[in-house]
Amino acid sequence: MSSQKTRLRCDICGRRFKKGGTRYRIHLEIVSDFNGYIQDFSKKPEDFLEKKIEKILKQTEDMTEEELQEEVYLKRNLLVCINCREKFIRFLKKINK
Ligand SMILES: [Zn+2]
Repeated sequence: MSSQKTRLRCDICGRRFKKGGTRYRIHLEIVSDFNGYIQDFSKKPEDFLEKKIEKILKQTEDMTEEELQEEVYLKRNLLVCINCREKFIRFLKKINK
């Protein structure tokens, strides 16, 4: 017996998988890529950085720790039905234009 939890529903549309029906796995990984560009703050007003940090803190104060981590690293393993697989591929093609 496998201790692994069997997922019976599509992770995207929630539809139940039929016994023996086709399922697809999507491994999604998004990693923040630092572009090496560091702004020269010496030419900015003294409180520029302070204000910038304040602004970032304000933007992120409503975010959970999980959401903040996802800004840098996001990993998802999805189990999807054939319809959602097609939808996902269409979506990828659309954003790749
Ligand atoms: Zn689906």
